[in-house]
Amino acid sequence: MTPALTHFVSGKPASGTSDRWADVFDPNNGTVQARVPLASTAEVGAAVADAVSAQREWARWNPQRRARVLLRFLRLVENEMEPLSRLLASEHGKTVSDARGDIQRGLDVVEFAAGAPHLLKGEYSTDAGPGIDVYSLRQPLGVVAAITPFNFPAMIPLWKLAPALACGNAVILKPSERDPSVPLRLAELFVEAGLPPGVLNVVNGDKEAVDALLTHPDIAAVGFVGSTPIAQYIYSTASAHGKRAQCFGGAKNHLVVLPDADLDQAVDALVGAAYGSAGERCMAISVAVPVGEAVADELVARLAMRTRALRVGTSDDESADLGPLVTAEARTRVLGYIDAGVAEGAELVVDGRDFTLPGHEDGFFVGGSLFDRVRPEMSIYREEIFGPVLSVVRAADYEEALALPSEHEYGNGVAVFTRDGDAAREFVARVDTGMVGVNVPIPVPVGYHTFGGWKASGFGDLNQHGPDAFRFYTKTKTVTSRWPSGVRDGASFVIPTMS
Ligand code: NAD
Repeated sequence: MTPALTHFVSGKPASGTSDRWADVFDPNNGTVQARVPLASTAEVGAAVADAVSAQREWARWNPQRRARVLLRFLRLVENEMEPLSRLLASEHGKTVSDARGDIQRGLDVVEFAAGAPHLLKGEYSTDAGPGIDVYSLRQPLGVVAAITPFNFPAMIPLWKLAPALACGNAVILKPSERDPSVPLRLAELFVEAGLPPGVLNVVNGDKEAVDALLTHPDIAAVGFVGSTPIAQYIYSTASAHGKRAQCFGGAKNHLVVLPDADLDQAVDALVGAAYGSAGERCMAISVAVPVGEAVADELVARLAMRTRALRVGTSDDESADLGPLVTAEARTRVLGYIDAGVAEGAELVVDGRDFTLPGHEDGFFVGGSLFDRVRPEMSIYREEIFGPVLSVVRAADYEEALALPSEHEYGNGVAVFTRDGDAAREFVARVDTGMVGVNVPIPVPVGYHTFGGWKASGFGDLNQHGPDAFRFYTKTKTVTSRWPSGVRDGASFVIPTMS
């Protein structure tokens, strides 16, 4: 019988009662490996009520005590790195070595958030006026919701959970229904690390559970990561219900290769960033922009060779460069885009559509695919494919190359490869995207800086992790206090000034 997963409420697994279920697949074989319950509005309401009462006591813990829970959690996850990585890879399809990175990039933010005692210190101005001191406090918001995508089932939940919990909030995590097992296990490990029951509840579900969170009066803020149409929906619905919201969406990341770039380095960077995780990364490079025909010809020739040589294998094959896509639906969508690219007149240099892995004929595999002579009006350029497909758009000069990512609807990440410091510096200053790599293909910032895209890649004011996370998960209270030692200045009917 197919194993049934649960929710996680009040520090323990909670069976679903809605009688609605989703299948969790084994992408290597195309079979169903588990069923996940989809929470009803009532189940979400019960999880929120539980979190509301747990949060009051949690917020009274001093920040150092809360941080120690994070540090114990960090060690527990490190001890379980191997089985967790295998579990993650088995539901997502990414390779086990890539799954280790998924978990580690999440732990980096746990480590950063354990600096909460320092990050929550607030500000103090003594003698702002006669006998007057002004100070500001950072206080938790209450109960917050985290709604996360399938493609980083450890990293993105941890980017939300670690700072939100460190600030004294309780969290309702609604992970992706496609790979929910690792988020559930992380919640168990938090409780094992000393997190009081109810401070982190996990509800699995789909639109019904999400809508219940977006409209619940006791949810103070919503952190979302996923595709752009859903990010827009979540941002507008949460905001309309008076909640603080930060919603990160899809991407179309370009890698610009200037004529003076080290081509070996650029090709290595492109194949890793385009095809790693089968292209299912929001920071994957999906567009290469060589500048000048000579560079373009050489780049495409080398990319074609490397794309044909990619090792596509099962997620537990340590020698594979990439595994299968997450679902059959994702595979059909990606194949549809490759068909569309051909129909629109792009040159399909390497065709991964017919790839099958012997012994895994029903797995959700697509081989690495490479398009040349892609034009900005084509759907394969405008839209996010989220698969192992790299498009080459040839630019005549530097200005054209700079304009492509700047004018694209999405603005998550971009990279420029060059040996010219001046050109790189100017590119960084002028390009219209949230994150930039200089000779770095996937510029995901370290946990103590912030992560966030611009334009259709992000909605809301503050970024994820880094100092912004502590701003997002707290509200500032500013206190003006006076101890006048017996002085009376009588009633004043004008706005007080410090003059
Ligand atoms: P998705 O938008 O389908 O799902 C994300 C979350 O929203 C899931 O928890 C899902 O259950 C929920 N959801 C889906 N449809 C919904 C609906 N109609 N109403 C309410 N909730 C709904 O995204 P995905 O396929 O899981 O993830 C891939 C996408 O995430 C890609 O577009 C990728 O670029 C993006 N992503 C962005 C970032 C970033 O930081 N910008 C990071 C990772 C992934």
